[in-house]
Amino acid sequence: MAMEEVSNKQIVLKDYVTGYPKESDMEIRTTTLKLEVPQGSNAVLLKNLYLSCDPYMRGRMNKPHGSYVDSFTPGSPIVGYGVAKVLDSDHPNFKKGDLVWGVTGWEEYSIITATQALFKVEHTDVPLSYYTGLLGMAGMTAYAGFHEVCSPKKGDTVYVSAASGAVGQLVGQLAKLFGCYVVGSAGSKEKVDLLKNKFGFDEAFNYKEEQDLNAALKRCFPNGIDIYFENVGGKMLDAVLLNMNLRGRIAVCGMISQYNLEKPEGVHNLTSIIAKRIRMEGFIVADHYHLYPKYLEMILPCIKEGKVTYVEDVAEGLESAPAALIGLFSGRNVGKQLVAISHE
Ligand code: NAP
Repeated sequence: MAMEEVSNKQIVLKDYVTGYPKESDMEIRTTTLKLEVPQGSNAVLLKNLYLSCDPYMRGRMNKPHGSYVDSFTPGSPIVGYGVAKVLDSDHPNFKKGDLVWGVTGWEEYSIITATQALFKVEHTDVPLSYYTGLLGMAGMTAYAGFHEVCSPKKGDTVYVSAASGAVGQLVGQLAKLFGCYVVGSAGSKEKVDLLKNKFGFDEAFNYKEEQDLNAALKRCFPNGIDIYFENVGGKMLDAVLLNMNLRGRIAVCGMISQYNLEKPEGVHNLTSIIAKRIRMEGFIVADHYHLYPKYLEMILPCIKEGKVTYVEDVAEGLESAPAALIGLFSGRNVGKQLVAISHE
């Protein structure tokens, strides 16, 4: 019997990018695909349902430069995290009908041979889209970054930048559940309101409206910062260093303010690290995925009991994916940015 052939819309990176990415750096292309995986390929055929927009994808748009993740291939579909349904499988661990999250293509259908980067979705009594964020890579980043890297103690004072985003909103809630005093910053009044009224942060400020970041942090942390969950870098990091407490910890998750600069900004207050015996440690979520079952065990009851909430920003349709992705770098997203390709 001849296998069904379908059209397959894809988002393709046209060329390597310098500076701020633009929608026109990507284009939509339509190809065709047979809905079957070749025998002996060990691959799975996925129907992509949701795609995740993540800041690290900007680094993959650069010319190859020896980063921890490979650059995208110009002319090929963009690769990223997503949630998908298995339509056909030649791999013993996956069968038709399974739901998965992990690394897939920015297209309607993908044939995935790197199945080690796919996790099976075992719990479907929560929104499926959560596996692009809260129950996926961003959630694991918040969990591992806070619990494994920050070494929190009850009563610690915690500061989170880009606090209303995919990672930040959860870091703040985890820190509150742990018994910390938590302050977040974000780039609009709407986001600051979310931090205070939805996510339960003790205090929050709009960094774009502060003339003096050092003074803003002194106002929110009269007794200093024990833990900084770093998402933005640049001037914010400099101001934080001046406000850290003795033996403070800085978990360096990301530095989004630097990703589009051709020349990174300098950091001036690094001597604080010596005087205050600060531990500053970078981390990559992929090194912590062995903790995923433990994370699910902790977070699923919290979601069901309403102890943790999650805000998503859903762009509809694959066509909207380029705008959604570049919107991360202007703060257009409110909460976790994802793209819904198909709701089934
Ligand atoms: P997100 O916070 O949902 O979205 C990015 C946000 O960053 C924007 O909404 C914007 O919010 C803020 N932003 C953009 N440009 C900025 C600038 N120049 N200065 C200050 N803030 C800026 O993204 P996310 O997925 O949660 O990621 C947050 C950080 O974690 C990123 O740095 C990312 O690279 C990092 N990350 C690291 C790992 C890891 O394994 N280490 C994994 C996932 C994510 P405002 O409106 O508040 O400015």
